[in-house]
Amino acid sequence: MCCRVVVFGITGSIGSGAEKIISVFPEKFKLVGCSAGKNINLLNRFLSKHQGSIEAVTVLDENDKEKVEFNSDKIYHGKEGLFDLLDLKPDKIINAISGNSGWKITLESVKRGIPVCLANKESVVIAGYYLGKEITTDRSKIIPIDSEHAALMQIIENREMDDITKVYLTASGGALRNMSASQMVEADAETALKHPVWDMGAKVTVDSATMLNKGLELIEAYWLFGIEPEKLGVIVHPEVDVHAALMFKDGSSISQLAPSSMLIPIAAALSYPEMLPVAERIEDLKFSYFGKKMSFDPPDLDKYVLLKIAFDLLQKRDYSGMLAYAVADEVAVERFLKNEMKVKGIHTIVSQTVSRFSGLVPPDNEKEIDDLISKIETFALNIVF
Ligand code: NDP
Ligand code: MG
Repeated sequence: MCCRVVVFGITGSIGSGAEKIISVFPEKFKLVGCSAGKNINLLNRFLSKHQGSIEAVTVLDENDKEKVEFNSDKIYHGKEGLFDLLDLKPDKIINAISGNSGWKITLESVKRGIPVCLANKESVVIAGYYLGKEITTDRSKIIPIDSEHAALMQIIENREMDDITKVYLTASGGALRNMSASQMVEADAETALKHPVWDMGAKVTVDSATMLNKGLELIEAYWLFGIEPEKLGVIVHPEVDVHAALMFKDGSSISQLAPSSMLIPIAAALSYPEMLPVAERIEDLKFSYFGKKMSFDPPDLDKYVLLKIAFDLLQKRDYSGMLAYAVADEVAVERFLKNEMKVKGIHTIVSQTVSRFSGLVPPDNEKEIDDLISKIETFALNIVF
């Protein structure tokens, strides 16, 4: 069977990985549509490689349409253009758009009955409450790509939740792991962008350095697997061999280990519930135990204050606070990447914004979500320090 796939955010780190998996398994997948932001050169390379199968394409800015090398009038743009790609009626989409602009495409796909392979973790943090657990935990609707959640999917299925006492997501600790708390808050963008393991987009790399990424992922795990917040935990594991682990009431534990490449979770999501011979077709993707030394430590929540906020929000089931957490962070990281501030600026913006928007009645339709996002953005943008 050949599965018609649309990749949103094909020019990014995850999107390019998705294009690779589609190319390596041509008997399984066909790229029928894709979206890019501003990297039209890379988009054109993919269009040339997949000419014949691609039926429509979307870019962010209307002005960029003329640069797109695609022999069809189905070149769309902007937010509406993303929805136009869903008219291709793909069998699956990959949502690899970065940040808070990704949630609407997740929502619209779910509404249209198109399964979403989800890299854009912000989608469930923002719209999880509105979608509800019946949808977020349904693997025929949303299939995780985030490596920790893809790992969980592999080890948690067909298990009794009552047997599980703890669910751990692992964290590399990011670029600032070896700094003290007082050094970390003074770090700038250039330092935070040097991730020791993963080669990712700028926002998620900064989020890894502050460990806010792990906070988003805890909330993501809550929605995608219905895990009670009290059972969620984080292990700092700089070698990134283990991606997630379960502890059981009989004292045993199971964990998932894999090479630190996003190609494996991308392939797993695209082919779910089938498993593809990825390690056979792509070199260097076989996990090996030999010669490995691994270390596991609890996170320092006095240093990673943004991770602590996520634990608190989950404990309180504070859904408006969770939304503020994701939205404020995007505003803060944008300012951080423009060198307007150091890591302590991100701490200030996120914590003040979360305090302001905590405990509100959570938005229960798209307009309410949009309105709350605008209010949060305005508040976060106007914080002076
Ligand atoms: P990148 O920054 O590398 O790529 C983002 C993609 O989205 C690009 O194609 C970009 O276009 C496009 N884009 C950016 N803004 C918009 C917008 N407003 N509208 C439409 N398209 C837009 O990000 P990553 O691939 O690293 O991450 C994507 C998502 O996956 C994030 O949510 C991230 O948290 C998650 N994720 C990433 C992992 C990784 O290893 N990279 C691991 C796990 C999750 P262009 O570049 O053309 O401007
Ligand atoms: Mg992850």
